[in-house]
Amino acid sequence: MDRQHRVMGALVGSAVGDALGAPFEFGPPHAFSTRFPSPARGVRTEMCGGGSLGWEPGEFTDDTQMALLLAQSLVERGGLDEADVFARFQRWAQAGPPDIGVQTSAVLGSGLPWDTAAAEHVRAGHRAAGNGSLMRTTPAAVFFARDGRAATMDAARRISALTHGDPAAGEGCALFHEVLRVLLDGGDADDAIALAEVAEPYRAKWAQVCAPGWTPADATESNGAVWPTLGSALWALRNSTTFEEALRLVIDLGGDTDTVACVTGALAGARAGMTGIPIRWSSAVHGRVPGFPGTWELRDLQWLALRLDGSTAALHEPPPTRGLTPVEVTDGVWAADLDGARRSDRDFAVVSLCRTGGRFGHDVQRFAYLTDDDSNTELDTVLDDVLDDIAALRADGKPVLVHCHAGASRTGLVLRAWVVRERGVSAREATEQVTAVWPHLSDWNASFTAALNRLPR
Ligand SMILES: [Mg+2]
Repeated sequence: MDRQHRVMGALVGSAVGDALGAPFEFGPPHAFSTRFPSPARGVRTEMCGGGSLGWEPGEFTDDTQMALLLAQSLVERGGLDEADVFARFQRWAQAGPPDIGVQTSAVLGSGLPWDTAAAEHVRAGHRAAGNGSLMRTTPAAVFFARDGRAATMDAARRISALTHGDPAAGEGCALFHEVLRVLLDGGDADDAIALAEVAEPYRAKWAQVCAPGWTPADATESNGAVWPTLGSALWALRNSTTFEEALRLVIDLGGDTDTVACVTGALAGARAGMTGIPIRWSSAVHGRVPGFPGTWELRDLQWLALRLDGSTAALHEPPPTRGLTPVEVTDGVWAADLDGARRSDRDFAVVSLCRTGGRFGHDVQRFAYLTDDDSNTELDTVLDDVLDDIAALRADGKPVLVHCHAGASRTGLVLRAWVVRERGVSAREATEQVTAVWPHLSDWNASFTAALNRLPR
């Protein structure tokens, strides 16, 4: 898998976990699975919103807000400028975000300078090993991964210390940075737990919660503390194979669900890559950063992730297309090109298979990560995810509009796959049937045809 898929998976995965867990914050164990015993792929998904703070479905919380502040500082300053990060955090805290950690709030509001505020907080006898510095550190873990183990662990400690004066929190962030670094390289989390690098006297306790046999039932603090937060994330990785399984495991723990899911989402997203995150979750994620202009959605997070990994490419704005009016290809499933879909009736559930320049304004719009060539390494996963969502949206009575840039190759792939699945015909027959009503179909990508031939009929 391409490194960029993992980088995007890490940042988007953390925001997805945050938004997915937020409605269940401070709730009892198993609330998530009780409400969603099976995957919810239709109009209403597990991105349900609500909770004590009344989140919108898919809206991220302070975890991601702080992460975005850190990310923008790293990218704009070209490295770690602690005074700048601290100033951004303060400006955000002063704007009155819906939620903010007790410790973070006290330190940022203390009036003390960046290099003494957190230490003074500890000296005054306050607890300082919450998970509030771990929850926001994913962008830094991506940014410093390319500099190697020592550099990324050092950066983690310095950023944590801005608000969390207990070095135990910094050591946890350092361990997390190294695990994420190895996952981005395609390695295994359990091979990356760098206990030998953890400063004394913090090593023994970190060794306990990172041990392969540790489970959240062994925790000696609530999961608002840094140790069980990272311990639970590692436990969830060991006990799952997919992003979805990992997130379900940790949100079902209850307690500080947004933060534990945010940390887990970063690691599980790096492991699974962008295409391993279900599109019904990644497409819904959005939010604002109080005190700062603008709104954030999926494409902004993907772009920021690539910038953290060193990309200098501008945010993609797709060129205009012919504006092909939607055509019904099979019962309730329609095709269009980019601008045709953009201007389509708002009742459509839109499945976007290309970069769109942002949401169109439909209530339901899902974004699949698919490039118009033969380089999609996870094509079967993407196709399964898209087809299952189309089936669920159709079952909810929604007309579904599938589009890509020109409405040719990627649109053709999904429409043909849908016909194979619905009518039980061969890939060749599906191609003939779709072409008869949608002559814009193209089959220039050999890997697409190969994927169609692998589909169960
Ligand atoms: Mg939060």
